[in-house]
Amino acid sequence: MTDPGAAIADEFIRGTRLLRAGRGEQALAAFRTVYAQAEAAGDSDFMAAALCEMAWSCYRIGDAEQGLECAMGSKWLWERLGNRLEMARAMAVESILFLDLGFSDEAYDLATMAVEIAQASDDAPMQAFALNAKGIVLTVCRESELGANLVEQAVAIATQQKNGGAAGYYLLNLGFCHAKMAEEAGSLGQPDRAMGEREAAIEFTNESIEQARHSGDAWTLRAALGNKAELLALQGSFDLALDVLAQCVELNDAPGTGLRIHYLYTLGDVLFRAGRLDEALVSATEAVELAETTRLIDHQTNAVAKLAEILEARGDTSAALVQFKRFHNLYVRQSGETAQRRARVASIRSETDLWRDRAAVLADQALSDPLTCIANRRSFDQILNRLAGTAFSTAIVDLDNFKTINDRYSHIVGDAVLQRVARTLVDQLGPHGHAARLGGEEFALVFPNVPEQSAVAFCEGIRIAISSIDWSDLGAGLGVTVSIGLATGQGEEPSGLLMQIADNRLYAAKANGRDCVIWADTIPADERLRA
Ligand code: GH3
Ligand code: MG
Ligand code: MG
Repeated sequence: MTDPGAAIADEFIRGTRLLRAGRGEQALAAFRTVYAQAEAAGDSDFMAAALCEMAWSCYRIGDAEQGLECAMGSKWLWERLGNRLEMARAMAVESILFLDLGFSDEAYDLATMAVEIAQASDDAPMQAFALNAKGIVLTVCRESELGANLVEQAVAIATQQKNGGAAGYYLLNLGFCHAKMAEEAGSLGQPDRAMGEREAAIEFTNESIEQARHSGDAWTLRAALGNKAELLALQGSFDLALDVLAQCVELNDAPGTGLRIHYLYTLGDVLFRAGRLDEALVSATEAVELAETTRLIDHQTNAVAKLAEILEARGDTSAALVQFKRFHNLYVRQSGETAQRRARVASIRSETDLWRDRAAVLADQALSDPLTCIANRRSFDQILNRLAGTAFSTAIVDLDNFKTINDRYSHIVGDAVLQRVARTLVDQLGPHGHAARLGGEEFALVFPNVPEQSAVAFCEGIRIAISSIDWSDLGAGLGVTVSIGLATGQGEEPSGLLMQIADNRLYAAKANGRDCVIWADTIPADERLRA
């Protein structure tokens, strides 16, 4: 039998490879499979990770609305699972998608939060990813200098980490920032600055092309080649621009309709600027025809405008007029489309409440033990992580001779004993500590902000409570006792070491005849180091 966890991980890796190879649709399908399999296996981590990759795949194939829903789902799920860092990644993706849909305020807020969370951690790749997102948002919001600064930091991190794939993508965006700076300089009547920025943009885009080729990132490569061609055409280097576009044709990826229309449009534009009007007409016509087969109204509008412009330059006045009218109609529809998009995004956002509830249920499932309904090991580990650096006590509680109970009274009775022990632990601790089932007949306790002596008293109380319960309703003559090992830290020891000490003391309790609590003072001083 194959391990379902391994099958899910394999499919996830397959999706990542497809995405890198520029096969966004297939990648999306693979991540959808991962999501479904993870849901069936109750693996919330993989569900959240798959949702984030689905969002990113959607972005790359130009379906920002669907992507947004996935990114939000991923964000809520990671939040509930207590993984703030992965939550920051989902927020950065969400921010880029909001930007794509024209919602720059939302994009800015999300990117800012993602940067804050990432910078509070020491995870450099995540910091780079969030900085890049915020840099793009700032650039689109006409703060390209600030934006370029952040994207530069992202490039520096990726380069330092020798992550060529990430560096290539950030360099593409750095080129975009400088292209925007060139545009701004141009509109301010500063042609020299515009020229300088455009040259910088071409340089960064060249570096992006190199890195993308090297790392096999076909999507970044295609986008960078397209940007470079546009930049060269703006400089009047039409032949060079056409050479660059010719390289796109040779790429062995599946660009998707959106990128293909964009390519044809750019080709038409460059040919038009180069004065090769007949060829420009062919490309622009093809772009329009392809755009008409889609619902991508922005692409349709741009392509028709270009076609009209080319026809006019050729002197086909009446044909140009027809296209200008079409452009006008599309333009009006496009404004209507923007309003509709606003409404759709609003409904996606209101559905996040639904997602939040769903994430809550899923995360609760991921964090609780199905038999006893108390916290499971994973949840316990999260509590320990949160307590890192503080003084706390932890104990391991193990049922005595539990195997005999199973053997003598049946597994079903054994289960009922575990449930009752779990409830007793929770009742005895009240708000003073947490109880979790580590597995089998082993439980763990943690006491934050409780003096060692009180932790000892709680453990003794638990031991006595369990042995005093009347168990006879579960089986005639049934008695249950527990052994407990307790360890207290001062905030300097790693939690793993405290657990190890508690476990050693549990072992000592078993050796001591069971039904007892062992902690520091119950062990003679010379043995304490070993215990
Ligand atoms: P000791 O006092 O040394 O801890 O002895 P023990 O019998 O409690 O320990 P041992 O590790 O030998 O046996 C633990 C048993 O717990 C074996 C296993 O079948 C049983 N067990 C583990 N998980 C469950 C469960 O979910 N339900 C039931 N009923 N039994 C379980
Ligand atoms: Mg036991
Ligand atoms: Mg045990």
